[in-house]
Amino acid sequence: MTIDNKNLSTVLVGAEKIDMRDMPIPEVGPYDVLVNVKVTGICGSDVHFFKHGRMMDFEVTEPIVLGHESAGVVVATGSQVTRVKTGDRVAIEPGVTCRTCEMCKSGQYNLCPHCKFAATPPTHGTLSNYYSHPEDFCFKLPDNISLEEGALIEPLSVGMYAIERANVKPADVVLVLGAGPVGLLTCAAAKAAGAGQVIVADLIPSRLEFAKTYNSDTQLLLERPQQGEPNIEYARRISAQILKTLGRRADTVLDCTGAETCVQMTVLLTKNGGSAVLVGLGASTQTLPVAEITGRQVDVKGVFRYCNTYPRAISMLQKKHINVKPLITHTYPIESSQEAFLHATNGRDGAIKIQILNTQ
Ligand code: NAD
Ligand code: ZN
Repeated sequence: MTIDNKNLSTVLVGAEKIDMRDMPIPEVGPYDVLVNVKVTGICGSDVHFFKHGRMMDFEVTEPIVLGHESAGVVVATGSQVTRVKTGDRVAIEPGVTCRTCEMCKSGQYNLCPHCKFAATPPTHGTLSNYYSHPEDFCFKLPDNISLEEGALIEPLSVGMYAIERANVKPADVVLVLGAGPVGLLTCAAAKAAGAGQVIVADLIPSRLEFAKTYNSDTQLLLERPQQGEPNIEYARRISAQILKTLGRRADTVLDCTGAETCVQMTVLLTKNGGSAVLVGLGASTQTLPVAEITGRQVDVKGVFRYCNTYPRAISMLQKKHINVKPLITHTYPIESSQEAFLHATNGRDGAIKIQILNTQ
């Protein structure tokens, strides 16, 4: 395979403004591989950066290449690379950790304070023709997994890790709040882990219509709060309704919205001694019904990305225990990145996962 000098990249230069730039081809260190990125999914955090120029503590101060849900083809390898070779199709795990700190050494590398994560300032993202990445964060895809599916391993990892944190056991009742890509993939991971009943809740009917066909047994359309209704009162009112419908609290509830009312419902609807798992990223400070946590010994667990999920996710896809293909509802060529991001920002027209394809 030849490497031309073009490195067309999707660069965020200001709020809602993307420039398609020819960026320098990145250097390939001895343990790195150069990936010709073919498919990249747009994630909520990319959209957040696109819209607001910031996300949690990270602010876009310099133009930055977007994207972190990618798969592509290896076109060059560093001198010490042994695990992958030129021509291999790989999924890119976008967070590169230090491998030496306490978190890395204890096997919780997602908590490494030195992690450089694609498209999280100041680290450039993967929406480039060429992307250089350490070989130990590139995972070879078997022949029966497409690059489109490979690019979905990143959000699938979030769902799989959340289910691992929740300690879901066969026949468990699992309630997922939020039917976006992360919530849906959490449902898929719950099913694959043997959950007996997966219930998913959302405010948007079209999302629940989709969920009906995708790894959930029960879909709950939540009514919106009444004018002036305090969050916790709404959360208690809706939780009482859900409890009536389900007849019991869930073994585990996972919030995949970040909304305060849902975080409160996550605690309220978890059974005594069960796991309330917080995946959604919302307001940095929120009010929780603490007496429910202590009085019913609910384990509230945070989820930050994932670790050691890529090999397991690849195995699940290869053996067809999880199907991620239905989530891909729209695709755009990389040259139309601006349009793709505007669609992801404004789109509620049944879009679940929008992917950007690079044919170079
Ligand atoms: P998304 O916006 O596509 O989906 C969120 C869904 O939640 C939507 O369908 C929305 O209608 C629903 N929702 C929002 N408020 C609600 C409410 N009050 N009641 C019921 N439903 C409500 O987002 P996504 O890509 O699926 O991601 C979900 C969340 O997970 C986001 O907050 C994202 O930032 C977070 N996330 C966290 C991690 C992590 O490492 N913890 C990783 C990736 C994404
Ligand atoms: Zn580390």
